Amino acid sequence: MYKIIDGKALAAKMRAELKAEVEAFTAETGKEVGLAVVLAGNDPASQVYVRNKIRACGETGIRSHAFYLPADVTQSQIEELVASLAANEDIHGILVQLPLPKGLDAERVLGLIPYEKDVDGFSAENIGNLAMNRKTLVACTPFGVMKMLESESIPLKGKNAVVLGRSNIVGKPMAMLLTNADATVTLCHSKTENLREICARADILVAAIGRAKFVTADMVKEGATVIDVGMNRDENGKLCGDVDYENVKEKAAYITPVPGGVGPMTITMLMHNAFIAAKRSVE
Ligand code: NAP
Repeated sequence: MYKIIDGKALAAKMRAELKAEVEAFTAETGKEVGLAVVLAGNDPASQVYVRNKIRACGETGIRSHAFYLPADVTQSQIEELVASLAANEDIHGILVQLPLPKGLDAERVLGLIPYEKDVDGFSAENIGNLAMNRKTLVACTPFGVMKMLESESIPLKGKNAVVLGRSNIVGKPMAMLLTNADATVTLCHSKTENLREICARADILVAAIGRAKFVTADMVKEGATVIDVGMNRDENGKLCGDVDYENVKEKAAYITPVPGGVGPMTITMLMHNAFIAAKRSVE
């Protein structure tokens, strides 16, 4: 019998706990935790993400500073804004919503965010620290997955963990976090040979490839923990993950649904990172 890891419920619990910690921080230091959110252009999906992030700030007592720039903003205008946020002591975290409108150099813009304020955990410094198992700001999605595993006390030490997908924002940091937790990790991608067999040996299987229902029941070991990061649309336009949930769940011991799994945890970890950045700023 499988158990669903309910990301929505865990996220709500963590946000309530964080709110109390943020309030205690403000009472103690006289400072609000400040998160700057920069959105350039009119991409509808980005607008939804930014709205959700600002709402999560409200729920956790974090002060959001939103900056909406037109789609024709110039490289120097957006760089000037990010540089001013980098220098602003009231801003502890800076988030630039990606993708930026065509013609803008995102790497240069992100490069202006000091690693102490890089609440997305995308910077080379933060990724390097993670690789070296040092205290750092960790990319929100894989960090959220670790919290989900922790919430069910799923053993990782010595276990076979397989991560599908090697992106810089999900797959690679996920593999590093699992390695740091003493799992034996295989990181798979589109060129991996014998992918199905590798997956079928996993005690913990994390799918982050962006292919609807790619992970089928024959790829899953009996009693495995299956974490679905994917966000896709199925043939009927319905939101679905990378895992064929209906068939895979019968073999899994633990499984995350889509929606209501990893998604709500990602934004929660962003709030968590903003709080960590604020605490470190006064240390
Ligand atoms: P990405 O940058 O597009 O990377 C996809 C990775 O999957 C690549 O490493 C690619 O391999 C690999 N891949 C693609 N097709 C494959 C296949 N058939 N077999 C094996 N590997 C394959 O994607 P991402 O940004 O990491 O996102 C992955 C998914 O997670 C997407 O559905 C995205 O929407 C979702 N996501 C969800 C959240 C959340 O909060 N829930 C957050 C971020 C992302 P190569 O490197 O060889 O090309």
